[in-house]
Order: sequence, then C-alpha cells, then structure tokens
Amino acid sequence: MRDARRSSREDNRRETSLYLELNTGITDEQRAIRDVVHQFAKKRLRPVSMQLDALDADQVIAAASPLWEVFAEWYSQGNHLTFISEDAGGIGAGPVEQHIVYEELGWGAVDIGISLAVSAFPFTYAARYGTLLDRPSLHEEILAPFLEDREGKVRGCWAITEPAHGSDTLGSGLSSFRRRDAAGSCRAVKDGGDWVINGQKSSWVSNGTIATHACLFCTIDPDNGMAGGGVALMPLDLPGVSRGKPWQKIGQRGLPQGEIFFDDVRIPERYMIVDGDRYEATVEATIAGANAGMGALFTGVARAALEEAIAYSRERVQGGKIISEHQLVQHILFEMFAKVESARQLSRAAIAYNATPNPPSVEHSIASKVLCTRAAFEVSSDAIQIFGATGLTRGMLVEKFIRDARMSLIEDGVNELLGLVAGNHISKVYEID
Ligand SMILES: Cc1cc2nc3c(=O)[nH]c(=O)nc-3n(C[C@H](O)[C@H](O)[C@H](O)COP(=O)(O)OP(=O)(O)OC[C@H]3O[C@@H](n4cnc5c(N)ncnc54)[C@H](O)[C@@H]3O)c2cc1C
Repeated sequence: MRDARRSSREDNRRETSLYLELNTGITDEQRAIRDVVHQFAKKRLRPVSMQLDALDADQVIAAASPLWEVFAEWYSQGNHLTFISEDAGGIGAGPVEQHIVYEELGWGAVDIGISLAVSAFPFTYAARYGTLLDRPSLHEEILAPFLEDREGKVRGCWAITEPAHGSDTLGSGLSSFRRRDAAGSCRAVKDGGDWVINGQKSSWVSNGTIATHACLFCTIDPDNGMAGGGVALMPLDLPGVSRGKPWQKIGQRGLPQGEIFFDDVRIPERYMIVDGDRYEATVEATIAGANAGMGALFTGVARAALEEAIAYSRERVQGGKIISEHQLVQHILFEMFAKVESARQLSRAAIAYNATPNPPSVEHSIASKVLCTRAAFEVSSDAIQIFGATGLTRGMLVEKFIRDARMSLIEDGVNELLGLVAGNHISKVYEID
C-alpha cells in the first residue's frame, strides 16, 4: 500500500517537473485530460496570446487574427462542450475535470482562456433552462447551433454590467440591490407576446464584440431596483443590436471586450428565462458559478508565474552562484508555492461543492475568486522581483501575467464588493455550535 502510494507520487511528479497533484485519487482519464489541455495551452494558447498582447484591440478581432485559429481548434475537438451537461448534448465534465481544464487554460493564456470559457455561457443556460422550464425551443433555437459548431463561429457572452452600473449589478443580498434609484438602464418591456429591449451594456462585456449570442441580464421592474431584473437568452444578429469599438486595456489583451447596444430589439417571450422574484437568486447563483471558474483560471496564472520564476532562478547568477541557491530566493519561492497550492485546493473544492447543491454556497466561490486572483497578482509580482529588471521588459511572460492578474481583481466583480456579498451571507447563515 505504502509502495503503491509512493509510486503514484512519483508518477505525479513525472507528469510535469513543477506540478505535484496532491489528489491521490485522480484517475488516468483526468490525467489524460490535463495532458491534452496542457499541450494545447502550451503550444497554441501561450504563443498566440503573446502575439495578441502586442496587437491593437481592433487587430485582435480582425479577419487575419490568430485568435480565430485557436477558437477553431478548440471547437474542432468538441472541447467547447465541456461545460454543457451530457443530457443536453454536451460533455458534462465533472468538477475535477472542469477545474483541470480551467487551470490549464489559465496557465497557458488566461485572456484567451476566458474568451473560450465565457463563449459557452448563454448555451449552458439554454441547456439548463430549456430542461428546467420545459422549453425545448431553447435547446433547438439557442443551444443546437453551439452543439453543432466545429469551427468556433458560434460564440457567447454574459452581458450584465452597464456604463453606470458595475458593482450595483452584482450586489445581490445587499440593501443597495433593492434601491429604486440604483435600477439598471438597459430595460426590457413586455409588448404582446414579445419583450422589447432598449439600452446598452458596458464596454467590459467579455466577447461583447465577437459574440453571436448573449445571456443578457437586464431590468424589467425598475421599482424593485437591481432586484427587478430579468435574464434573456438571445442571438445578437437581431434588428436593433449594434456593437461598440473593441476596448483597449492594460491586460488580458487577447480577450475581446466591448459594448452591446439595444435599440428596440424584439425577442419572443420564450427567450426570457428568468423574470420576477427569481432574479436575485439567479444573480447569486451566477456569481457562484462564474467566481468558482475564475478561481481555477487564476490558479493557473499563479502556477505559471511560479514556474517562470523557478526556471529563471536556476539560470541567473549573482553573488557567484545561481540565485536559486540563495536562501532569500528560496524563501520567496516557498511563499509563492504556498499560495499556488492553497489556490488550487480552495478553487477545486468550491467548484466541486457548487456543482450540485441548489442554492450554491456563494461565499465559497467568492472566497476562491478573491484568494486565487490575489494569489495570481502577488505571485506574478514576486516572479518579477525574482527576474529583476528583466521581468519588467515587454514581451516577457511575467510582465504579461501581472497585467492580466491585475484585471482579475476587478473582473467578475471588484474583490472588495464580492467580499461584501459573501460577508453578508456569512454573517447570517452560519450557526455557531
Ligand atoms: C477583465 C474584465 C472582464 C469583464 N467581463 C465582463 C463580462 O463578461 N460581462 C460584464 O457584463 N461585465 C464584465 N466586466 C465588468 C466588471 O464586472 C465590472 O468592471 C465590475 O463589476 C466593477 O464595476 P465597475 O468597473 O463599474 O466599478 P464600480 O462598480 O464603479 O466600482 C468602483 C469602486 O467603488 C467601489 N464600490 C462599488 N460599489 C460599492 C459599494 N456598494 N460599497 C462599497 N464600495 C463600492 C468598488 O469596490 C470599486 O473600488 C469585466 C471587467 C473586467 C475588468
């Protein structure tokens, strides 16, 4: 038994030089998934994301952009169906597999990784709500084109924030969520058998400029503030939909972002999957799902930064020896390592726990997002410290990591605001024995 455990540890160590899988129950199939996604991340995502990082935002989505090759490759093997349940025609990956995929995508290039992951967003909702609401039309009209796509042409986005409402849109459970004067300005109004949508979503919508479909969170009852919302699934080629210019930003430059405008856009009633009382709970469940994914993605960034730092520390000579032999550097590496390992354990546990319970534990997903994005930022910063001035040079991986990680402290909710949402829960729900 002890020998078996030792040989399983040795196998784990052999997989990649700097990665020890602490989960001794990991299966061969899960290991194989990691190998496949890791190779894709290493050979395709990373080099392409470095190319995109140097381009202007318009060029990232131009016809000649290498981004499209990555999308086509990801979809060609059906990988885009990872997060779609099996009964709806997807792969229905389990929580450990999902975590592995997210971490490897984040390790390779978190910007393109997020673009690929968020692309599935409206379609996972079409799969779930088509079944839940017994509306086969959602499967036939929204989900089916995504299931069939092998070229990366059917892409999704999650459109919730607005120019005047960022944190407001994500503050479920907070008293401000019900303030009438904090209601969103992208509104849907019922008109016969249709909903008519007017307004705009913020320039930060991930895939906003390239999505063919949206999961739109909008306001339907402004008297109820942000809580008076609805969720609609819709194609974005409808009359009245237009896009803003590709957004220029400091990091995650391979992730296309931009506004979506709605001018008297008419959608059939069946596309509105949530209205009335269930909206606030839906926002919370969405934060729980999205934040759990973010935790895993940014664990990958933290690990990548640690690996770069270890590799460099074994080459750079100062004080007459390679810097990895200086105890000071070893201690910094240890602190980085501890953050990466903590990030992996919490983010994997949050995905696993929240894969089943309804309602999910939003505080665990938020804790994962906050801890892992902080880890990614701090570990990237420490990596640059180990690189010295070399790490501050454009074109170095660690320099990109810190810009990508800095965005994550605001992405999917400012960490402090998410902390308020989680703190509000924690202060109420836990029974102290
Ligand atoms: C890389 C990236 C990807 C993104 N992807 C998407 C996407 O796919 N879809 C989408 O719709 N949006 C997306 N966003 C937008 C993102 O969700 C918002 O930027 C975020 O919620 C914060 O909103 P804001 O930028 O308007 O900041 P604000 O909400 O204006 O916050 C400004 C400051 O005020 C503080 N603050 C705000 N409210 C409170 C409060 N109630 N109490 C105390 N302090 C408060 C905040 O902590 C922050 O420090 C993305 C953003 C980034 C950076």
